[in-house]
Amino acid sequence: MTDKISRTPEEWRQRLTPEAFRITREAGTERPFTRDNFPKTPGDFRCVCCGQTLFAMPDKFDSGTGWPSFTQPARDAQIEEREDRSLFMRRTEVTCGRCDAHLGHVFPDGPAPTGLRYCINGLALDFRPADEE
Ligand SMILES: [Zn+2]
Repeated sequence: MTDKISRTPEEWRQRLTPEAFRITREAGTERPFTRDNFPKTPGDFRCVCCGQTLFAMPDKFDSGTGWPSFTQPARDAQIEEREDRSLFMRRTEVTCGRCDAHLGHVFPDGPAPTGLRYCINGLALDFRPADEE
């Protein structure tokens, strides 16, 4: 599937809040507990930039970190992972495969079934309750 979305930084800036722009387009990180207050109802989490479904509620767990955390991406989600050596750390950055938005990082210390912890900036996500559609 090649439905890549590309816009100039200026176009993204017009579409996003300043905080969401900083995180998704400039690889920022929100402070813990900024936006991990999503309702605990069925639904899915979409890319705040392009609307792609990235994560689903059953995969969300409370990691205690203050960032929304998931054991795996939603089925069929286009997500890209690449090594990130910034800040003197070796981490794996997670980005939206459709619009290249920075989402967060994935760590190998999550719970079952995957053992992974997708640590995602809440401001990069747009929650859609299942019953709204
Ligand atoms: Zn996106």
